[in-house]
Amino acid sequence: MSSHILEQFLNENLDELKSKGLYNVIDPLESPNGPMITINGKELVNLSSNNYLGLATDEQLKNAATEAIEKYGVGAGAVRTINGTLKLHVELEEKLAEFKHTEAAIAYQSGFNCNMAAISAVMDKNDAILSDELNHASIIDGCRLSKAKIIRVNHSDMEDLRAKAKEAKESGQYNKIMVITDGVFSMDGDVALLPEIVKIAEEFDLITYVDDAHGSGVLGDGAGTVKHFGLSDKIDFQIGTLSKAIGVVGGYVAGKKNLIDWLKVRSRPFLFSTSLTPADVAASKKSIEILMESTELNQKLWENGNYLKKGLKELGFNIGNSETPITPCIIGDETLTQQFSKRLNEEGVYAKAIVFPTVPQGTGRVRNMPTAAHTKEMLDKAISIYEKVGKEMGII
Ligand code: PMP
Repeated sequence: MSSHILEQFLNENLDELKSKGLYNVIDPLESPNGPMITINGKELVNLSSNNYLGLATDEQLKNAATEAIEKYGVGAGAVRTINGTLKLHVELEEKLAEFKHTEAAIAYQSGFNCNMAAISAVMDKNDAILSDELNHASIIDGCRLSKAKIIRVNHSDMEDLRAKAKEAKESGQYNKIMVITDGVFSMDGDVALLPEIVKIAEEFDLITYVDDAHGSGVLGDGAGTVKHFGLSDKIDFQIGTLSKAIGVVGGYVAGKKNLIDWLKVRSRPFLFSTSLTPADVAASKKSIEILMESTELNQKLWENGNYLKKGLKELGFNIGNSETPITPCIIGDETLTQQFSKRLNEEGVYAKAIVFPTVPQGTGRVRNMPTAAHTKEMLDKAISIYEKVGKEMGII
């Protein structure tokens, strides 16, 4: 028998979300998550994946994963600190450090738990964290878990950051103060003002933490936002995910050796959750090798991003202020955004509606993620469907 109070809670809340157009329906894929996908037997231009470089289906990655499965099996068998550390994990971490120009790196099972792990391993209730208001949910949860005082900073507002850093420092209330930001903000595609953030951090002795989930493989010829600004020796924590441009799954911190040593003994998902599978690790390592060898995929990503942006902007869509290939089409109203996305889908484009609470209320958008794997024909098809549906719904 299920609890009456739980039934009431679930039904009321689900009904409310559905009536406001805020209930996300999940469409399972019947194909790889490539530039074209199949859902319910229908082929669609895919503009919703984070597989920025198309590496999720790359033959070299698949071969590396298959070889690792043959050699080590499918599971790592234990947490990292018991005996779930294969030589492959160590090799991946060495490769990540090289990729990020740091002394060392540590891998986690996802980008999400990496943020939960890393923030709470270093910050505690006697500390404060200055956090951009648009930071990713995993950063917010990591900050909460640490029990540090969270000071929200207006998005990319350097005056606000400086004033709040000064106030926190001069209050003498906190042992440590951290400034934490996404490298690339995934809902708008804008880039954090890292040179200014570093200056403020130096002035007030702040620990610097950059989550570059959407910048790695994209900015800095693929090495990420920190490298893009030439700040590799100025950022204490460089966070990344292996699930987006890298094309696999996992997360990591790159930084000084003593920081990584500390995370290995104090970050809880490293200590208490089974390590990444051999296939994930081998494929991720191969992916980073590909990225470090050539910028070809990176250049193709930018070319495709610029092409799609130009096409949508010329049609009259509001594509916001993206500085990266991420291309939002800002609609505003949540229900209209959902309807627009549904009509695009019916016509052959998979571009997901992103609405509150993922983005602020009233800023609903259909977010487009062109990748290196798209062809011009695919993008042209998407642009012409945008034109048809946009006109039909009176959006352009
Ligand atoms: N940080 C940011 C900025 C992200 O956008 C995401 C993914 N949406 C994550 C962390 C979580 O990464 P993962 O999917 O590897 O858990």
